[in-house]
Amino acid sequence: MFRSMRARLTLWYTGVLALVLILFSLVTYAYLVRAAQWRTDNSLAETADSFISTVSTEANDEDLSADDAAKEAVAAFHSPDRIATVYNDQNEVVAASHVPPSPANLNQWSSTALNSQFSALLTAGNSAPSYATATVSGDDLRAVAKPFEIKGRQYKVLMVQSLREQAAGLALARRAFYLANPLALLLASLGGYFLARKSLAPVVDMASQCEKIGAENLDERLAELDARNELGRLVLSFNGLISRLQASFQTQRRFMADASHELRTPVAIIRGESEVALSNERRTADEYRESLAIVQDEGKRLARIVEDLFTLARADTGQFPLEKSNMYLEETVGQCVRSVESLATQRGLKLDYETSARELFFSGDEGLVQRMTLNILDNAIKYTPRGGTVSVRLKRNGSSCKLAISDTGMGIPPALQARIFERFFRADQARSRNEETNGSGAGLGLSIARWIAELHGGDLSLDASDKNGSTFVISLPLA
Ligand code: ADP
Repeated sequence: MFRSMRARLTLWYTGVLALVLILFSLVTYAYLVRAAQWRTDNSLAETADSFISTVSTEANDEDLSADDAAKEAVAAFHSPDRIATVYNDQNEVVAASHVPPSPANLNQWSSTALNSQFSALLTAGNSAPSYATATVSGDDLRAVAKPFEIKGRQYKVLMVQSLREQAAGLALARRAFYLANPLALLLASLGGYFLARKSLAPVVDMASQCEKIGAENLDERLAELDARNELGRLVLSFNGLISRLQASFQTQRRFMADASHELRTPVAIIRGESEVALSNERRTADEYRESLAIVQDEGKRLARIVEDLFTLARADTGQFPLEKSNMYLEETVGQCVRSVESLATQRGLKLDYETSARELFFSGDEGLVQRMTLNILDNAIKYTPRGGTVSVRLKRNGSSCKLAISDTGMGIPPALQARIFERFFRADQARSRNEETNGSGAGLGLSIARWIAELHGGDLSLDASDKNGSTFVISLPLA
């Protein structure tokens, strides 16, 4: 039960509130006790003062002796819960007020008991009033002793009061705390549970909506909430996540469909060609050779597509094993240019390599850098008609280098330029397929080349393309 967020929140909330309430009650109670004591002491001191003034009035107005005046004042003193005792300078009782009949316990306070309990106050001898608390016959008592002088003689009045009323008041306050605190806690925890339930309800709702979304219905979204609050933002991020998942699923599906489509064509040609070769028993050796050459070409094409797909699959998982080494880019690019020279000549093209820069020191995977350069060079040769020129320019550009490969080919229509780096994208399907080059022709060459450039911290882009030709630019950071 306590695993649910609601229960936990309520429990935490109630626990914290209980602590606060206990602390608050303790502090308040301490203040109440202090205030009650202060009130009792003040009232005792006032009573003692008025008693002393009665004694002095009796002594002066009635012209009585000091002892008689004290006795008269004591006789006139009536209080339901206090008694006054007058002591002379020998600490002998001169007069003690009548012990009131109510409350019952007060009857039992004998002068001797009071005398012995508060003897410290009597012997203190200072001129200021002094206070003390003591228990007499089971009653808590508070007393003040106040010295005074009548007709040159020193006296002390001991004013004693029961703390019964004060204790009853404090007990009432305690009872109020005992009753009010649990009640407040109960109400607050009910309110807390209700609030937790209410504020977590959208989360519960989101969870059940999420449970219903799977690979088949990734176009569904969570119901939107107010985007200004936290849950609204959570819904937005969830929906964003689902959108990204959907896009990734779609890419994956398209990739699978495109890949199988690309693989089907060479497989179909190989099957068809071998069936034709086997069906006719009276074929010449040249005819068999021709069929085998087609099978070989398509086999190569198949191998290249599979190799490209494997590269991209490993690129996607980020697990391509990089074999880094140090190289001079002008030499690596030079090797690539030399390796396509015969192909260019065969296709009646002029291949032109020019670099003014020397010692373009680069650290990377040489095999991949060659593959990237060859992919662009192959395309330039593949898409440039006979008599055209393919030029390669390599130059230093600050801390990086710039490799521009231009051709005088047919160019890429402006509307399609943004898409040529997409996987399996071909600007002209028929045109690519019919060319006899060592490119895969599956529309993967540019995406692999761009991935290699980015893997090395660089970039590949189409700089310009129109009916007079295209220029691709690779920039790589130098070591
Ligand atoms: P492909 O294997 O088809 O060459 P790429 O990814 O290398 O695949 O290129 C994608 C498409 O971009 C090509 O099919 C082609 O239409 C276009 N393209 C690439 N390079 C050139 C170029 N130099 N001139 C004209 N079109 C090009």
